[in-house]
Amino acid sequence: MSRDGIDALLRDIRACTICAAHLPAGSRPIVQAGTGAQIVIIGQAPGARVHESGNPWDDASGARLREWTGLPSERFYDPAQVALVPMGFCYPGTGSSGDLPPRPECAPAWHDKVLAMVPARRLTLLVGSYAQVRYLPEARRQSLTTRVAGFRAHLPAFLPLPHPSWRSTGWMARNAWFEADVLPVLRHLVAQTR
Ligand code: SF4
Repeated sequence: MSRDGIDALLRDIRACTICAAHLPAGSRPIVQAGTGAQIVIIGQAPGARVHESGNPWDDASGARLREWTGLPSERFYDPAQVALVPMGFCYPGTGSSGDLPPRPECAPAWHDKVLAMVPARRLTLLVGSYAQVRYLPEARRQSLTTRVAGFRAHLPAFLPLPHPSWRSTGWMARNAWFEADVLPVLRHLVAQTR
C-alpha cells in the first residue's frame, strides 16, 4: 500500500464531521495507522483525557494495555508497527454510567478503508465488546468472558480482550486463566510481529 494513500486517508479522517452533531466536545478523530502495521488494536473510543491530549491510549487503560501486550511505548506509538483504530475515532461524551458508546457511524465509514491500507497478514486485537461484536460473527450471542476464554478459535487473525479499564482488574481477579493462559499467548504473538 502506498504511503501517499494512507496519508491522504488519514487527512480525510481528521477532517471528518460525519457525526459531529452528536459529539458534545466536537469532532477530534484520533487514529494511528501505517502501511507496515502488523498489529491492529481496535478499541472503543477516546475518553475525555485522550480527547484533550490527542494521543491515543494516553491514560491508565493504555498503560495496562501496553503491559498486557508487552509493547513498550516506542513500539506502541510507531504507526509503522501498530495501528490504533477505535470503533469510534472521536470522544463520544459521558453519560450517567461513564463514557457513551462509540458513535455507530464511525466504523462503517472508516474501518474498511483503514484496514485496506495495513498488511493482510496481521494480528488484530479486539479490545472490548464493541470491536468483538463487529468482527466476530458469533460474539453477539456470547458474554465477553466466553469470547475471551475462547480466544484460540479466532487465532491467528483476531484475539479478543476485555477493555483494560480499571474494571478489568476485578474481572482478572475472577478469571485467573486470563493472566495464566491468554497474556502469554498475546505477548508471544506480539513479539513475533517484530
Ligand atoms: S466519530 Fe468518526 S464518523 Fe464521527 S466525526 Fe469522528 S471520525 Fe467522523
